[in-house]
Amino acid sequence: MMNVSMSDVSLLPYGLGSPDLVEFQPGYFVDREIAGDLQSLSSAADACGFQLRVESAYRSFEKQLSIWNRKARGELPLLSAAGMPMERPTDEEELMYAILTWSALPGASRHHLGTDIDVVDGAACPEGYEVQLTPAECEGMFAKFHAFLTERMDAGKSFGFNRVFVPGRGKIRPEGWHIAHLPTSRKRLEHFSLDVLRGIYERSDMECKQAVLANLPKLAEEYIYPYFV
Ligand SMILES: [Zn+2]
Repeated sequence: MMNVSMSDVSLLPYGLGSPDLVEFQPGYFVDREIAGDLQSLSSAADACGFQLRVESAYRSFEKQLSIWNRKARGELPLLSAAGMPMERPTDEEELMYAILTWSALPGASRHHLGTDIDVVDGAACPEGYEVQLTPAECEGMFAKFHAFLTERMDAGKSFGFNRVFVPGRGKIRPEGWHIAHLPTSRKRLEHFSLDVLRGIYERSDMECKQAVLANLPKLAEEYIYPYFV
């Protein structure tokens, strides 16, 4: 979509360009730079009887745009803040905020970085259970695994991984299952520019584009910058 070098590191924060990815678990790709530390964390979990299972990893701009647009068009369900199915607002700005309740802006998802993953404890997951990635799971069947992660993080023994979506930062709800390799994500985010993101939107076929462009500085203060940690 852009006439620039595809290896350009400046495109990586937006889920564009060609990140150097490795397949960590079947179907789940991460930045090559974090693979060793993720393996170390996974081995530490194994040693304690857990099984670090990845539920989401790298996601491209196109993938996030597809999720966004399908929600905007009513092809995927919209959920309220309480997690209940809701009517699709007709006002574009209201629709935008409704999508933002559960989905990141394309080009501004931390999953674009290749350094962030959603994890559960495969050892505690009942046979055939479909993981939802909800606070209830974190506090329920995966509580011991999350306590293990928290303990490691607090002790500085989590190989660079930490939680990002914690209470008190911005408007994204807490996500205990989402962990980030901060040393690497900081490097990727050095190249982020809101002006570049604006340009990407202007050239994209994003739903609610006018509402997003009109509110972009405010959206960045609430949904993007608080999570550059
Ligand atoms: Zn996530």
